[in-house]
Amino acid sequence: MSTLTHHFIDNAWVASRATRCLNVIDPYRETPIAEVTAGDPADVDDAVAAARRALPGWRELSSKRRGAFIDAIAEALEARRAALVELSSRNNGKPRAEADQDLADAIACYRYYAGQARALDARQGETIDTGEAGLVSRRYQDPVGVAGLITPWNFPLVSSAWKIAPALAAGCTVVFKPSEVTPLPEQALAEIALEIGLPSGVFNLLHGDGRGVGEALTAHPGVDKLSFTGSNAVGEAVMAAAARGTRNVSLELGGKSPILVTADADPELAAELVLAGFCYNAGQMCSATSRLLVHESLADDLHARLDAAIADLVPGDPLDDATTLGPLVNAAQRQRVEAYLATAEAEGLVPTARSRIALPEHGHFIAPRVFRDVPTTSRLWREEIFGPVLCARTVRDDDEAVTLANDSIFGLAATVVAGDKGRAADIAARLQAGNVWCNAHQVAPPALGWGGMKASGIGRELGREGLEAYLETRYVTLPSAD
Ligand code: NAD
Repeated sequence: MSTLTHHFIDNAWVASRATRCLNVIDPYRETPIAEVTAGDPADVDDAVAAARRALPGWRELSSKRRGAFIDAIAEALEARRAALVELSSRNNGKPRAEADQDLADAIACYRYYAGQARALDARQGETIDTGEAGLVSRRYQDPVGVAGLITPWNFPLVSSAWKIAPALAAGCTVVFKPSEVTPLPEQALAEIALEIGLPSGVFNLLHGDGRGVGEALTAHPGVDKLSFTGSNAVGEAVMAAAARGTRNVSLELGGKSPILVTADADPELAAELVLAGFCYNAGQMCSATSRLLVHESLADDLHARLDAAIADLVPGDPLDDATTLGPLVNAAQRQRVEAYLATAEAEGLVPTARSRIALPEHGHFIAPRVFRDVPTTSRLWREEIFGPVLCARTVRDDDEAVTLANDSIFGLAATVVAGDKGRAADIAARLQAGNVWCNAHQVAPPALGWGGMKASGIGRELGREGLEAYLETRYVTLPSAD
């Protein structure tokens, strides 16, 4: 059992000032696998000071050199891939194949931003036509400064890659706080920083929870940029903290995403996409498509296929290659989902006949549930559940489907399953969501921006937008003769 009592500050392992420690568990075996420090605000002061000291040197480095360091992170992750897949799967509970997909996504993200970094200097000073006689302007982009990065537990190494890679590419220095629930895989990033010779203080990692580290990091006046992924409740607190000093903030928050299945859809494809949309990672996805809007002519067929597909799921040891459904991440998360199931019962909602499967005797498992004809006023229809629970409704036509899809405080993602491509594109154009997949699985390649509308967040990660989030723009206007 490892003990994570040290932070990574200024390229050194520094003992936490905190005496409070938290258990890190294996959610399949329900046993502790590590202890992690809860962190202390004084630790935050040290890490921010290190990041501030490192900032001038890092931002002055050519963007090409920064890109080379980011490429080296990707290579080091690749070299540790098998071990990290196993660690992530054990710590989070996700099946090995899903953990391996996470590693692939994280590595692709570092590679992409290594390329973005290399391209950054070439764009500096590009000429902009002012439209004013005799005046020309040049456009420059500068790093925002010290970035405070906070991530959740559902996609270890992925959510952090989406922040760390663009921050370093832009020339920001970093204080990163991973989730206290999954600190084990993220710890590797500090080891990698040492191994690749990243300059001291450029990347700092603080273990801890919201009380020990998160609150102090978001409130710290030495942090210029906050990027947070997590729940809406904490996201709002982060935004309030950023208001002090009018600091730059990006938020990736919750979702209650729809999946729309039109009358001409291929039912087999629809069943496959619906199942993956609410059962991948045991439904613990901000982009889970947990509201199904299916045309009435296809509903019975689709639900029969879904029930059969759920019966075929293999819950079990995440490290067993046969497993397709892992446990939820911990007891608190399981209790949260069970509370929603109790609400469903109180509201008279009954899961479809076969949408319950036998579960292993231990592990924080929840059997997938499908509820049909869920009233739009139900809490299950409106709130993010973060577990394998699907709420379904039938619709008469595409207009009704779009209206119901958009009737949510969230706007993160959506899937459209339609026979006709033009029809799918038509529907996609009317959906309020940052990412819409048409007849396709949920993918988040690094070249495409990721983020939500409405209460799903502010700003975008990934893509060019993801880099812009860590840059300030400066226009220098001067007589065109000069
Ligand atoms: P959470 O909000 O409880 O915690 C997220 C992180 O914030 C953790 O590192 C936690 O330690 C830290 N934290 C807690 N309190 C804090 C405070 N007061 N100040 C600063 N930091 C604090 O969320 P979670 O349970 O870890 O993750 C689940 C949530 O994350 C879901 O709501 C999900 O939708 C959201 N999520 C969103 C996206 C997205 O891209 N939009 C991606 C993944 C997860």
